[in-house]
Amino acid sequence: MSNLTLLAKILRLKELKITWFQFRQRDTELHLGIKPYKNGCRCPVCERRCRIVRQGQEARRWEDITLFGRKIVLWYAPKEIECPTHGRTQEEIPWAAAHARITYRLEYRLCALCQIMTQKAAGAILKLPSSTVSDLLHRVIARSRADHRIRGLVTLGVDEISYCKGRKFATIVYDLDRSYVVWVGKGKGRETIDRFFHEALSPAQRARIRWASCDMSQAYIGAIKHHCPTAQLVIDRFHLAKALNEAVDEVRKEEWRQLGAEGRHAIKGLRWLLGMHSRNRTKGDTRLLNRLRTSNRHIHRAWVLKDEFDHFWHFQYPGAAKRFLKRWMTAALRSRLPSLRRFVTTLRNHFDNILTFIKRPLTNAVGEGINRLLKILKNRASGFRGLEPFADLIFLTIGDLDILDLDILAQIPSDLRTL
Ligand SMILES: [Zn+2]
Repeated sequence: MSNLTLLAKILRLKELKITWFQFRQRDTELHLGIKPYKNGCRCPVCERRCRIVRQGQEARRWEDITLFGRKIVLWYAPKEIECPTHGRTQEEIPWAAAHARITYRLEYRLCALCQIMTQKAAGAILKLPSSTVSDLLHRVIARSRADHRIRGLVTLGVDEISYCKGRKFATIVYDLDRSYVVWVGKGKGRETIDRFFHEALSPAQRARIRWASCDMSQAYIGAIKHHCPTAQLVIDRFHLAKALNEAVDEVRKEEWRQLGAEGRHAIKGLRWLLGMHSRNRTKGDTRLLNRLRTSNRHIHRAWVLKDEFDHFWHFQYPGAAKRFLKRWMTAALRSRLPSLRRFVTTLRNHFDNILTFIKRPLTNAVGEGINRLLKILKNRASGFRGLEPFADLIFLTIGDLDILDLDILAQIPSDLRTL
């Protein structure tokens, strides 16, 4: 076995022939002259073998993966060919995308690493400057999303998410059956969600949507009703619970404002306790809250109502749930607490869509997996300015974009796919 064949074997350059090699940059880079097996000469569009018009003039370089800390650089001068259908063009490069300066397998490694670590760390491992990592990643993801179609979407979830330290908003659309993200768009208004329905779904796909979960924003509800008239809407449980918590906190704040120093002492430190789910409370917490019955009736009433409301989520039959909800609303109105009355108005406005939860307990926090990951990604992407790098990360980690499906994979031997 010659040196060059051995080198090709070690580097797993299967379909390529090495013509020369050289260590450069004080031994930190291994440069290889290569050529496609069987001389290449294929048209990049139709893959047909074509006549060579001109031999390669200028050698191009591609960065490859690192091996024991050494960067591998490939050199080749692409030939010009004449395709009967597509005319004069540069031959296809089997190891890299057109105009790319890194190989498929480096792209794949980059994606795989960025799924589990920061881009900075991935860049350091692969010896890529961190300033270019984001661009490279974006190009790979854009390429794989270019001809990507959403498939089999039946249960839809729409939510808003903040980025850029909470200053900007984006709309994010989930496939709740398979718990992944299918779309991310700038803004949180009606135009944004309309754009999703127009751009990402065909009329047939829109008609196939059976269930949709969203918060109480009129923009999302309006758009879903307009584009998928047959879909049943479910108001997201966590948004509703949050609204109720806010109403209860409003009662506490109001009391705080009106009470003197002595009364304030009795309700001090209640904020977190009131917002806590009954399941997470200790006996001491409950005792503290029960003591409110004598010390502050308003807060006590608000808290009891809030705790009772939680039963709603556990009903099995829509009829029973409906009766419960109506009774609860009457009780809340009788409490004469303004913020809870406002919450009742919200309930009344979305009454039917809240009841659908009993038929299909949908929530955007699918197993909390997505939300937890989104939070991690948001932290990781906090240094980025725009939505694009953040969206790239979302698609890479929890998108329906499966990097393993990419054409990149065909180029990589199976044991290089594991990290
Ligand atoms: Zn062709």
